[in-house]
Amino acid sequence: MGSELSSASPSEDSPTPPEPESALETARLQLHRAADHLDIDPNIVERLNHPRNVHEVTVPIERDDGTVDVFTGYRAQHDSVRGPYKGGLRYHPDVTRDECVGLGIWMTWKCAVMDLPFGGAKGGIAVNPKTLSRDEKERLTRRFAQELRKVIGPNLDIPAPDMGTDPQTMAWLMDAYSMQEGETIPGVVTGKPPIVGGSEGREDAPGRSVAIITQLVCEYYDQPLSETTVAVQGYGSVGANAARLLDERGATVVAISDVNGAMYDPAGIDTASVPSHDEEPEAVTEYADTVISNDELLTLDVDVLIPAALGNVITEANADDIAADFVVEGANGPTTSTADSILADRDVMVIPDILANAGGVTVSYFEWLQDINRRSWSLERVNDELDEEMRAAWDAVRTEFENRDITWRDAAYIVALSRIAEAHEARGLWP
Ligand code: NAD
Repeated sequence: MGSELSSASPSEDSPTPPEPESALETARLQLHRAADHLDIDPNIVERLNHPRNVHEVTVPIERDDGTVDVFTGYRAQHDSVRGPYKGGLRYHPDVTRDECVGLGIWMTWKCAVMDLPFGGAKGGIAVNPKTLSRDEKERLTRRFAQELRKVIGPNLDIPAPDMGTDPQTMAWLMDAYSMQEGETIPGVVTGKPPIVGGSEGREDAPGRSVAIITQLVCEYYDQPLSETTVAVQGYGSVGANAARLLDERGATVVAISDVNGAMYDPAGIDTASVPSHDEEPEAVTEYADTVISNDELLTLDVDVLIPAALGNVITEANADDIAADFVVEGANGPTTSTADSILADRDVMVIPDILANAGGVTVSYFEWLQDINRRSWSLERVNDELDEEMRAAWDAVRTEFENRDITWRDAAYIVALSRIAEAHEARGLWP
C-alpha cells in the first residue's frame, strides 16, 4: 500500500479538504459519512478505504516517425465483493495513481447503488490523446491491453470508455485481448461499437438516466414537468441527451452551455435544433440570441440545475448563489463537499452523480449480459430496462431519505455501503 494512502479516516483529520478536492478525498469523505449512519464493522470500512490492487504499467509505443515513447498506465481495482471490477479507462495528461483509486472507489458506490453485480475500478494512461495519431493511439491501446491482460477479463475486470477514449478504443482493446486469448471475448470491455458486441443505447444512457431521475424528483416533490424550468451546463453526451429528453417530456429548458458560454432563452430552447458536442463541437453560443456566462447559468433562478460538464463547479464560492430548488448531478463530482453542506443548509436538494448519471454503467451491464449470452437487445428493450433499473435504485434511495431524514447524497451512499458491507459480512474475510 502506498504511503499516500493514509489509513486515517478523513473525517478525523480533514473534514473539509481544500477546494478543489481530489476524487480520492471525496471518495473517502463520503465513505466515512455513510459509515457514520450505519452499524458496520469498522474493519470493513477500513478495507474499503483502500483499493484492493493498483496495477502500474509502462506502455512503450513506436511513434509514426520511428522513435519510441514510454507512457505510464494504471488500473486501480477497489472492491470486488459483489462481482468483477468495472470502470472506465481514460487517456489524459493528468491521470495519476491516486485519481484512478478515487474514481475506482466512486465506481464501487455507483455499481452498488444501482445493485449491479460489479465492483469499482478505474484506469488510464497519462498521455494527451490529442498528440497521438490514430495509428499511435491504436498501438498504445493494444500494448496497454497486453500489459493489463492478466488482470482484466469478463469475469475479472471490465473496462469501458472514459475521457480521451471511445468505442473504437474499446474495439481495439477487445481485439488485442481476444487475439492473445485465442478466442473472441467481447465481454472484456463495454462501450464497444454495436457491430462487435456493443449495446444499443449505451452512448445516450448517462443523459437518459439524468432525465429519468429528474422526472422522478419532480414527481416526488409534486412539481409537474410541464411547469419545470431547467438549466444544463455542458451540451455533450450527458447534457444534450438529458436536455433533449426533458424537453421532449414537457420541461422548459431555458439554458444550455458549452465551454464558450451559455445560450439563454426564458421562453424555452428548442433543444433538438442546437447541435450537441458530438454533432458540432462547441457551437452552442453560435445558435443563441442571448449569451450568458457559465457562471451565470449556474445561478439562474430555475427549478432544476443540471451540471453536466465538469467536476468541482459548485463550490464554496457560488453555493450561496445557487437559486435552483434541485441540482441533479450529470457530471461526476460537480459539487464540492463544502458546497454540498451549504446547499443542504439552504434546503437545495442535490441528487448525486452516483445515482443520476449511473445509466452509463447500467447499460454497460446490459452490454456485458448481451456479450455473455451472444444475443443483442433492441434499443426499446435497453431503454425499458434502464428505466426499470433507475426506478428501482430511486426507490431504494428514497426509502433511506425518508427513513433517516438525511440528504439525497447521504441516502445514496447509505444504500451503496449497506449492500457492500452486507456482502462482505456474508462472504467473510479470507482466510
Ligand atoms: P462531452 O465531452 O460529450 O461533453 C462535455 C460538454 O461540456 C461539452 O459541451 C463541452 O463544451 C462542455 N464543457 C467543457 N468544459 C466546460 C466548461 N469549462 N464550462 C462549461 N462547459 C464545458 O462529455 P460527457 O461525456 O457529456 O461528460 C460530461 C461529464 O459527465 C463528465 O464529468 C463525465 O465524467 C461525466 N459522465 C460521463 C459519462 C459518459 O458515459 N459520457 C457517464 C457518467 C458521467
